[in-house]
Amino acid sequence: MAKYIFVVGGVISGVGKGITSASIGKILQARGLRVTAIKIDPYVNVDAGTMNPTEHGETFVLDDGTECDQDMGNYERFLDQDLSRDNYMTTGSIYLSVINRERNLGYNGRCVEVVPDIPLEVIRRIQAAEKKSRADVVIVEIGGTAGEYQNILFLEAVRILKIKRPKDVLLILVSLVPSLTAGGTELKTKPTQYAARTLNAGGLQADLIFGRAPIALDEKRREKIAFVCGLASKDDVISAPNARSVYEVALNFEKVKLSDRILHKLDIKPKATDLREWRQMVAAINDSEKVVKIGIVGKYFDSGSFMLEDSYISVIEAIKHAGAKIKVKPEITWLNAEEFEKDPRRVRDLARYDGIIVPGGFGKRGVEGKIRVARYCREHQIPYFGLCYGMQIATVEYARDILGWQDAHTTEVDPKTKHPVIDIMPEQKKNLVNKDYGATMRLGAYPAQLKKGTIVAHAYGTLSISERHRHRYEVNPEFIAQLEKAGLVFSGISPNRKLMEVAELPRDKHPFFLGTQFHPELKSRPLRPHPLFVEFLRAVNNTAYGEEDQKVKIARKQPVSKPKNGSKKEARTTVKKSK
Ligand code: GLN
Repeated sequence: MAKYIFVVGGVISGVGKGITSASIGKILQARGLRVTAIKIDPYVNVDAGTMNPTEHGETFVLDDGTECDQDMGNYERFLDQDLSRDNYMTTGSIYLSVINRERNLGYNGRCVEVVPDIPLEVIRRIQAAEKKSRADVVIVEIGGTAGEYQNILFLEAVRILKIKRPKDVLLILVSLVPSLTAGGTELKTKPTQYAARTLNAGGLQADLIFGRAPIALDEKRREKIAFVCGLASKDDVISAPNARSVYEVALNFEKVKLSDRILHKLDIKPKATDLREWRQMVAAINDSEKVVKIGIVGKYFDSGSFMLEDSYISVIEAIKHAGAKIKVKPEITWLNAEEFEKDPRRVRDLARYDGIIVPGGFGKRGVEGKIRVARYCREHQIPYFGLCYGMQIATVEYARDILGWQDAHTTEVDPKTKHPVIDIMPEQKKNLVNKDYGATMRLGAYPAQLKKGTIVAHAYGTLSISERHRHRYEVNPEFIAQLEKAGLVFSGISPNRKLMEVAELPRDKHPFFLGTQFHPELKSRPLRPHPLFVEFLRAVNNTAYGEEDQKVKIARKQPVSKPKNGSKKEARTTVKKSK
């Protein structure tokens, strides 16, 4: 039978529970244990698919198509494991199961009650995930903060499980230890004391408390927290200051032998730790010196308090993984697509970057700006990597400029265009008949066949791949032949040959101009960087201005000439690199 580690946050949300949980998973895995991780979101949303990224950060997608919280991405990255829908639950999904069971007479006619039936469903789900993964340790992160109304029923599940299996449950409180003094030196423990007492009021006692602070917690603070919050020793209070890289947190925990402490508390016989590869990867992230400048063209810029990074977290992490592999230091700049619409001349600024990524997105806002970006990158030999929408945009740009179809578009933005090069497929349309949008996209893992001799085939080193999807629109089969004739190579195709999965320009035309209909970033892992991100960064590194490659500099100043059948209107620009 597995052991359970529950992780709950104190004082504020966004305190780092996800990275803490994932790092605990990592250090236990490094001791030879099978670990799985579960995320509980207290929202009534059934999944994360209908939430705007500016509200809740990126929607992560699993192989089985589950649309979930970005922390699931952290777990997959840290544990190097493919998780499934069993590893994710929300208040909405729990209630939905209970209500469906009730409607199907699953409760034998008895009164179904919030307590205990909701917490019991939570426990049932946790144990289902445990069974499926055959885990020795299940880490369960409870979203929200101790004391708020939303996660009370989940904490009640912890209480019930602890009564049933007292020796198998460990409760961790990750709490803020703030400082208001200049330099953040005077750390205050009171908010954490309140958080721990709030748990006590719910019948729970934390076994370990992690103090998240700008600096390391000193002995005195740890003693104080332990004494007031009912912990036997100051060693049960773990100092968790900010780290240079999220992957370093696991190493910091092992510096104070955290895994020993957890294993002792759960009465598990420890094996020796093996974190060698992890340590090397962290060193490569922290110590690589050669900077490559990557611009990410996004649109989720509008929420003042929101971290833009959260909307594109998997893309950022995938870049970091690839950077560690080829030993470069990627420096990311956020570029607002709408700026290129307001002032088209701004695209010239792109010459400052060694590579550009146009990530996934939806809708009209910023789309013309993104098309301008794709054109500039194509014409000026700047490595371009389009992820999902970024691939569709590159296709629209190519159709407009090379085939001369000025009105070419995706029907997502212009349903009336005469050249709907990106369109919704009949199978997807069917999903929308009831106007019920939840989970109606093409979601999760699908296989693709790669074309020999292409960049994508070279990158993967194989011709069969499987990648994760989240989109409604596809390259329109009606226009494929013409696009290909005009030089765009569809180098990845679905097994039934209907869906275009990868589009690229041949290497002799461009150092890297490639888009994927899938989201490669979702499968990048720190110790197994995604081959396409590695290939992109290699191209970026080879053509980076930092190197004395005069030919590339000259090529970028002069747009490459266009194939004959085009009908170019826009004046070409020349670019000066500002160093
Ligand atoms: N909006 C596009 C579609 O639905 C792309 C989606 C995405 O980038 N994830 O097809």
